Amino acid sequence: MSGVCGECEGNLFPENSFQCGEVFFHYGCGSITRRCSSEFDCEMKENPLSKRLHPIYKDVVIIGNGPSGLSMSYVLAGRALTYNGRPHPDAIMDAALRSTLRKDDFITESDLSNLAQCVETRVGSSPLGHLLDHLVRPGADAGLRLPPIVDWVDHPSRALSHVVVGKGPPGGTWKKMDGRTMTLSLSSWMELPGLPLHESDVGKREHVTADGCRVATSTIGDYYQEYVHKMGLQKYQRRGIVTSVSEYDDAVDAENDKKINWVVEGRDHHGRKFRYLSKYVVLACGTTDSPNRLGVPGERLPWVHHSTRDLDEFLRRQSPSEEEGPVLVVGSGLSACDGVLCAQSHGSTAFHIFRGKQGLSRWLPLTAYPEYLSVHQLMTGAATCPTYRGTGTLRLARCHNGANGRRLVTLESTEGDPEVLEVSAAAILVGSTADLSFLPRDDLGLRKGAVDSRSNPLDISLTTHQLNRLANCYAVGPLAGDMFVRHILGGVVAAATHIQKTM
Ligand SMILES: Cc1cc2nc3c(=O)[nH]c(=O)nc-3n(C[C@H](O)[C@H](O)[C@H](O)COP(=O)(O)OP(=O)(O)OC[C@H]3O[C@@H](n4cnc5c(N)ncnc54)[C@H](O)[C@@H]3O)c2cc1C
Repeated sequence: MSGVCGECEGNLFPENSFQCGEVFFHYGCGSITRRCSSEFDCEMKENPLSKRLHPIYKDVVIIGNGPSGLSMSYVLAGRALTYNGRPHPDAIMDAALRSTLRKDDFITESDLSNLAQCVETRVGSSPLGHLLDHLVRPGADAGLRLPPIVDWVDHPSRALSHVVVGKGPPGGTWKKMDGRTMTLSLSSWMELPGLPLHESDVGKREHVTADGCRVATSTIGDYYQEYVHKMGLQKYQRRGIVTSVSEYDDAVDAENDKKINWVVEGRDHHGRKFRYLSKYVVLACGTTDSPNRLGVPGERLPWVHHSTRDLDEFLRRQSPSEEEGPVLVVGSGLSACDGVLCAQSHGSTAFHIFRGKQGLSRWLPLTAYPEYLSVHQLMTGAATCPTYRGTGTLRLARCHNGANGRRLVTLESTEGDPEVLEVSAAAILVGSTADLSFLPRDDLGLRKGAVDSRSNPLDISLTTHQLNRLANCYAVGPLAGDMFVRHILGGVVAAATHIQKTM
């Protein structure tokens, strides 16, 4: 048996698949690969052999296929980081590295928490996230462009069986953004381990330089997808949604003779159920799955959107005329700003309502981000433009349909006076949070309220990224306090190392 799975594009070998008639069952992603249309009636749920597929044992189940899940998969596929002995521009860090490591040592052989004390702590990244960023991009914050002082090496004996379950294509939230918006970070800060963006096919196509520059978010989404192929990670990918993670009752799985802690269940994108038994679970779900809602009546109407991408698609489809009214944009952060720019790019006027007077300056050093600076100036009244109207004194009270398909919103002043406005669309862009409904909330150790990578991350051990209240369950990325892609690697290495040591 050979060929490529039509579902995940992983290679089919006898050891990872079996054949029933003309249909191939692929253990790699658990899919059925159709080879002969006449045999397609043989669906997994009706096939007697399907029982052999479920449950599937994996050492690790990774939930989420964004940068965190993909980096985790790369490491668990049998890669390790070694110290290459190059000098670090920070003298304290350099001395600490030299006193604990020799050239070609695995960096995890030194005490990473100790090394992390050499870098200042920051809101928005975990200590290890910050440390690994210092090793991979030494001096980057000081504007230096130096080669890493760590190298990735293949380490097959450390490889663990694992699966990465993700709702959409590999790339996570980067496949759901309005691809025309630009990254906040330099392109080199968006890279995943082992594949510099400028050396990837996508990077070459887009003329990305090694120096790094801001690039379109679609470039990053395409790069993450290419990454999976280039790094040979397709065979670990499974498209689907995890709906439940529960503790396993039996101590040992007879067939695999492995300690099982978790039963992970869900559905793939064809609606077929899957079930994994695993020793470890890694939460790499990001914090963008549940857009925050205002809770006002009419918020679920089809012309009311909660992402810039949905707004963009709607405006592209409908091409509303100026007579149909402006696009209402609600929110004071960067996403709302993207919404304003999106409306203007479709030739619409943005009617922007936001809270506070400081505009966007609390989020970014605006001089480096001309598009956000321009909206900030409109918000604060420092500039005007015929396609922008903004106010910090109104709030959205309701969205409703009027006669003849008119789309109406009721806005209220601070005194409670209502004003009805006809709009062509509305976008409520007030942030988002994670959807971790597949786990009991008490186990996550959250303070009151939703997960927030800055102010309310999951309660984890900072040395292993294991949840303090849930052994054998780990969190990486924004869930663990690492807001930016460049900081994800620290948690990934910490969690993978702990898993490999306790396996
Ligand atoms: C508009 C915007 C702009 C940004 N710009 C930058 C930037 O310029 N630089 C930067 O470094 N960072 C930026 N970020 C932050 C960056 O996107 C995150 O740090 C990064 O994507 C986190 O990666 P992740 O893999 O942890 O999560 P995500 O990228 O969010 O991926 C997680 C994936 O897991 C999936 N998932 C969740 N639950 C389940 C489940 N139950 N079953 C299956 N799959 C599930 C989600 O649907 C998602 O696709 C930006 C974020 C946003 C929203």
